[in-house]
Amino acid sequence: MNFNTKVIHGGQHHEAVTGAVNVPVFLTSTFAQKSPGQHSGYEYSRAANPTRQALEDSLASIENGARGLAFGSGLAAIDCVLKLLNPGDEVIACDDLYGGTYRMFTRLFEKYQLKFTFVNMDDPSDISEKITDKTKLIWLETPTNPLMKLIDIRAVCDLVKGKNILVAVDNTFATPYIQKPLDLGADIVMHSATKYLGGHSDVIAGALVSKTVELGEQLHFIQFASGGILGPHDSYLVLRGIKTLALRMQRHSENGQKIAEYLQNHPKVGTVIYPGLPSHPQHDLAKKQMQNGFGGMVSFTFKSNEKTDATKFLENLKVFTLAESLGGVESLANHPTLMTHASIPADKRAELGITDDLVRLSVGIEDAEDLIKDLEKAFEA
Ligand SMILES: *Cc1c(COP(=O)(O)O)cnc(C)c1O
Repeated sequence: MNFNTKVIHGGQHHEAVTGAVNVPVFLTSTFAQKSPGQHSGYEYSRAANPTRQALEDSLASIENGARGLAFGSGLAAIDCVLKLLNPGDEVIACDDLYGGTYRMFTRLFEKYQLKFTFVNMDDPSDISEKITDKTKLIWLETPTNPLMKLIDIRAVCDLVKGKNILVAVDNTFATPYIQKPLDLGADIVMHSATKYLGGHSDVIAGALVSKTVELGEQLHFIQFASGGILGPHDSYLVLRGIKTLALRMQRHSENGQKIAEYLQNHPKVGTVIYPGLPSHPQHDLAKKQMQNGFGGMVSFTFKSNEKTDATKFLENLKVFTLAESLGGVESLANHPTLMTHASIPADKRAELGITDDLVRLSVGIEDAEDLIKDLEKAFEA
C-alpha cells in the first residue's frame, strides 16, 4: 500500500459485530473471559485496548515499522525508550533538543546513573569520538526546534551499524509523510502525536514505532509495566487525525514554502530558516532525506535584530494565533525566547543561535494568500 492509502486503512478494519466503518471507542477497562484465562486477546486495557490497538497498528503501518505503541504524551513515549537502558549506560543526543526532552534527560534520568552527552550533529562523524563501550542509545531530532537544523539520519545509523547501539529519531516535525527514519536505518521512531499526527490541537498524545518485533515487545513490556498508555477516546482522535495526515502535510508544506519565500523577499526580514529554501545551509540534505515537501515550520529573524520588532509583529497578527505548540490545522506564531524556550538559560540560547528577534511560525492549512496578508499587516504595524 502507498502512504495515502495507509493513512486511511492501515491497522483499521470494519468492526466485526456490526460492520461499523469506523473503529469504535472501546470505553472499557476490562473484558469478559469464557473460562479463566480464556479471552478474546484483550484482558485489561492497560495491556491492550481495541481502539488503541487500531491506532498502534496504524502508526506501525505509516512509519513502515513492526510495532506501534501509543502513549499519554510525547514525553511518556520518550520515557519508555529510556527505560530500555540500565544504570551506567550512556546516551548521545543532539544538542538542539526539544526542551522537555532535555529536561527529562538531565533532571530525571541522570539521577538514575544514565549519562548524557550532547553533540552538535551537523557533521555526524563528530559522534564517533563520543562513542564508548557504554553507549547504548543515540537520540536525535530532525528538523530541530526552532532552528530547523537537519541531521543526516542515514549517516548516523551507518556510523553505529553492528555496534549494539540503538538509534531513536523524534519525527514530530517532519512526520512520515515527509521522512521515514526506519527506512533510513533507525531502530525507533518517536512522535509527539499532539502535533501533526493528531493535527487539530485537541489532544495530548505520544507514539513509538519500532523497526523489529523484538524491540516492540520490549517497549510494550515497559509501557504495560509503567502504565503511560493513551486512553481510547484520545486514541480515536489521533486515528482520525492520521486519516488526513497526507492531505494536511501536503498543504502545510505548500503554505510553508510560499511563506518562507515571501519572508525571504521582505525588506524587514533578516534570515529565514526553512529546509525548502536553497539558502538553508543543509538544503541538499533536506532534498535527500525529506520527500513530498519540507513541512510547515518556518523560523525567521528581523533585519533590525530588535526584540521589540518581534514582539510588536506578534501582537499584531490576526489570523496567526500567538501560542505555543505546533502542527495543528490553524497557523500559530511563537516567540521562542519568551515562550517555548524561556526555560533555557540565556547563554545556552545564545550559543545555539536562538536570538531575541527570532520568530517561529507553525504554518497551518488556511489560504496562503490570507496568511501572507496577515503577516504583511503585522509588518506594517
Ligand atoms: C511537543 C514535542 C514533544 C513533547 O511532546 P508532548 O506531547 O508535549 O509530551 C517532543 N518532541 C517534540 C519535537 C515536540 O515538538
